[in-house]
Amino acid sequence: MSQTKHIIIIGAGPGGLCAGMLLSQRGFKVSVFDSHDEVGGRNRPIHLGQYTFDTGPTFLLMKHVLDEMFTLCGKQSEDYLEFIKLDPMYRLQFSDRQLNVYSDKPLMRDELARVFPEGCNGYDAFLTKEAKRFASLYPCIKRDYSSLTSFLSLDLLRALPQLALTHSVFSNLGQYFNEAQLRLVFSFQSKYLGMSPWQCPALFTMLSYLEHEYGIYHVKGGLNQISAAMAKVITEQGGAIHTGQPVAALELNGKTVTGVKLADGKIIQADAVVINADFAHAMSQLVKPNALKRYKPEKLANLEYSCSTFMLYLALDKCYDSAHHTIVFAEDYTTNINNIFHFRLPGDDFSFYVQNASVSDASLAPPGCSGLYVLVPMPNNNSGLAWDELCANQRERVLDALASRLGLTDIRAHIVAEKIITPNDWQASEHVYKGATFSLSHKFSQLLYWRPHNRFEELNQCYLVGGGTHPGSGLPTIYESAHISAKLLCRDFNVDFAVSA
Ligand SMILES: Cc1cc2nc3c(=O)[nH]c(=O)nc-3n(C[C@H](O)[C@H](O)[C@H](O)COP(=O)(O)OP(=O)(O)OC[C@H]3O[C@@H](n4cnc5c(N)ncnc54)[C@H](O)[C@@H]3O)c2cc1C
Repeated sequence: MSQTKHIIIIGAGPGGLCAGMLLSQRGFKVSVFDSHDEVGGRNRPIHLGQYTFDTGPTFLLMKHVLDEMFTLCGKQSEDYLEFIKLDPMYRLQFSDRQLNVYSDKPLMRDELARVFPEGCNGYDAFLTKEAKRFASLYPCIKRDYSSLTSFLSLDLLRALPQLALTHSVFSNLGQYFNEAQLRLVFSFQSKYLGMSPWQCPALFTMLSYLEHEYGIYHVKGGLNQISAAMAKVITEQGGAIHTGQPVAALELNGKTVTGVKLADGKIIQADAVVINADFAHAMSQLVKPNALKRYKPEKLANLEYSCSTFMLYLALDKCYDSAHHTIVFAEDYTTNINNIFHFRLPGDDFSFYVQNASVSDASLAPPGCSGLYVLVPMPNNNSGLAWDELCANQRERVLDALASRLGLTDIRAHIVAEKIITPNDWQASEHVYKGATFSLSHKFSQLLYWRPHNRFEELNQCYLVGGGTHPGSGLPTIYESAHISAKLLCRDFNVDFAVSA
């Protein structure tokens, strides 16, 4: 029966592609539309001549979640992708010391003892206690919260004590580590959600736990290859992907979505529509304001959003001996965080992340050359900062910081091509509301039942996937959002989700 049901997916980002893969395997006729010419959304590649960069995600966490999505389609991820486990996972650069972070436990214990001789005994307690928290929270993450009854689940009631509602990630870590820098080692991951460790709910301590428990992977050719592989699976299963075809509006009959109108005016009917476009962007651009109540434009503007990023992708005619992933902390991290989230300023002393993937993957640059990806967390566009004017100066400051903090003093002489993405570009070219690259904030009042529902509460025959719905931003959670929404859609159309390949 499902073969006759047509599902349109707006957006070929990780969420849309994963949903497309799961639904086309279950016999739905799937059509994916994306405004860009290549699939992947924020996970698509940037090509500068013979150099390839990932636009956004570079850390693959919880690889087993990705594997499960392929298994649910009767496939093996290894048949499509070449995974490279990184250990050390990354290097942390403080102003006075440097730490290599390993998922190998004995190596990590030794490294902590070497770099923090003043004491780091909390590492084992951190692993044990956070494992327990994760075990009780993960079933809640995998659940749907589209209705109050599904919200009030036994799983969530059991997990309530683990939520540590009055704590942030930083304060939660106080039970293991006294030293502030050590707490940063296990809390800077809040930035993966575009949040401050002092604001990010304690439950997200699981991010650093997950790194230490399962490790971090690179994919040969870049993490963009994951999206390319998912698109391949969709077409193998009979689905269609239309790139360079923006959707202009949802077609509505009252509150029921009946299809989409493309930018060229063509109307395409569907039995249901899955929205993967950034949630707030989609609600403000694709739906008439009077069609919505909870998420009408003025209410969207009042929600809290993640920070943004300033990105510099450098194609170099030389290779540097720096780690695959390096996180450089501002000399005064607290002021840096306050600048981003409170004062909404770029700040002079900033933290940044550098990916030098060519050290593990020669396919990304010509022989003897390399590409550097630099990410600097910045305020989102609530700042009102004039990025057209600030951009050139910010580029110089980033190059100066690469020289002063990482010793890449000759970098300017070796740049053969480059690309910049500012917070304004995230909004204008990447269709991200307020340029908030990690979507709606993950504060507690915007999580679970209080995040836009996977079966969208405001419109019928409409489902959400991606960072703006439950469970939230980050590749594994986005794949889980697709899993949850695909299961709901199957249930609504009386299709057995558990169908085998
Ligand atoms: C700089 C950066 C670094 C990140 N690093 C990591 C990391 O290391 N690890 C990790 O797990 N996560 C990371 N993330 C977070 C997250 O994994 C990615 O942002 C992810 O790509 C989000 O996926 P998505 O499915 O929500 O949407 P997107 O990737 O944004 O895809 C949505 C798609 O919808 C399309 N679209 C929008 N409007 C329309 C329209 N009207 N018509 C047609 N198409 C439309 C867009 O063009 C886009 O292609 C990072 C994000 C960023 C930005």
